[in-house]
Amino acid sequence: MTRRARQYIRDLVRIDTTNPPGNETAAAEYIRVALAKEGIATELLGPDRTRLNVIARLAGNGARRPLLLMAHTDVVPADPTQWTVAPFAARQKSGYLYGRGTQDDKALLAAHMTVLVEFKRRGVPLARDVILLGEADEEAGSTGIQWLIANAWAKIDAEFAIHEGGYAADTAAGLRLFHVQTCEKIPTRVRLTAQGSAGHGSSPTTDNPVVRLARALIRLNDADQPVYLNPTTRLYLGALSRIPQYEWLRDLLPKLENEAGSLAAANQLRSREPELEAMLRTTLSPTMIEAGVKINVIPSVAVGFIDARRLPTETRDEVLVRFRRIINDSLVTVEPAGGQQMPATEPSPTTTSLYVSMEKVLLESHSNARVVPYMSRGATDGAFLRAKGMAVYGAPIFLRTGPDSRAHGNDERIELAGFDSGVQLLWRIVNEAAAR
Ligand SMILES: [Zn+2]
Repeated sequence: MTRRARQYIRDLVRIDTTNPPGNETAAAEYIRVALAKEGIATELLGPDRTRLNVIARLAGNGARRPLLLMAHTDVVPADPTQWTVAPFAARQKSGYLYGRGTQDDKALLAAHMTVLVEFKRRGVPLARDVILLGEADEEAGSTGIQWLIANAWAKIDAEFAIHEGGYAADTAAGLRLFHVQTCEKIPTRVRLTAQGSAGHGSSPTTDNPVVRLARALIRLNDADQPVYLNPTTRLYLGALSRIPQYEWLRDLLPKLENEAGSLAAANQLRSREPELEAMLRTTLSPTMIEAGVKINVIPSVAVGFIDARRLPTETRDEVLVRFRRIINDSLVTVEPAGGQQMPATEPSPTTTSLYVSMEKVLLESHSNARVVPYMSRGATDGAFLRAKGMAVYGAPIFLRTGPDSRAHGNDERIELAGFDSGVQLLWRIVNEAAAR
């Protein structure tokens, strides 16, 4: 089984599906041929024939609603001058497979294919349909999943889905923490526009929009955003606090829940573990500014862009209203920036039979395992399915080694032994969840 999985991931990495432009049909076509060899029919569909999605379905007896195995076929661009190996060669080096997509998301795609093929080969009787979806355009516009939801919902409708976003990591104390992604922060793009009077650079003005924009950005950057826990982050931090390394969280947790003390507690947490802070509050990063055409001309307008990531419990309007209050300048307008909007969703519950199956298999897989629901900082196409009411889980089948995740980075790679055990974990999870 793992030999076949390694073949799939190598072949998929060698198909360049850099988005833009994507050309995901090449990957969809590869999957079609690979599954056809095993007697599994596929359907390629979508609005653009160079960017097709691929769907395959193994039929169960219908006793339960389907399980969707989903992964995206596209990858982000790779600049070969920044890599030590060719990004699409799938080179193997000291136990690692290198290449764009080895982490995000072709490892999962290959694992899904392998599980489907294994069910078919062994003729395992299923209590529910198992659907494989290789979707186009996750990395740029999410047009693949949105098209499928609008035009082919019946083909992907399921009780729950396994997708990307989860990960396993070992702690210093020898615990293996399996992070099941159950919700995610929502990208919220914001544009600030500062207005003022144009003039000669030799005559300073009080309403210089460059200065007003700079001041607005600093005020926003330095302000404390409010703290809210949701069911996922409450469970996650609670579970962490029961691990010796995170004992210090025990005193902080009640303070985080109490509005009066929450900001101080969040700042304390940031000083110890900055990564956890993003779980508590909406974050923002100013990323672009545009102003002026000449060094001796004061412009009449300056524009700044902010990549905010809001908590799923906040609406976009609530965030914009707060940003305006913090900036507190009538000459600076705060509006949503263009581009795609992700839906706000509730965390997927930890009580579904899939979550319970996943927990069982993961706990059995390691002598010192903990399974925790987790909210990711990054967004995935899972949000679109959650918005339709489907429970969606980022399965933590692959182990993250070292501090650096190289997804979207240079020299992206996956450890092959870890890949093999991830495939086996997925196989056991899907068996537990779908076999009769
Ligand atoms: Zn991804």
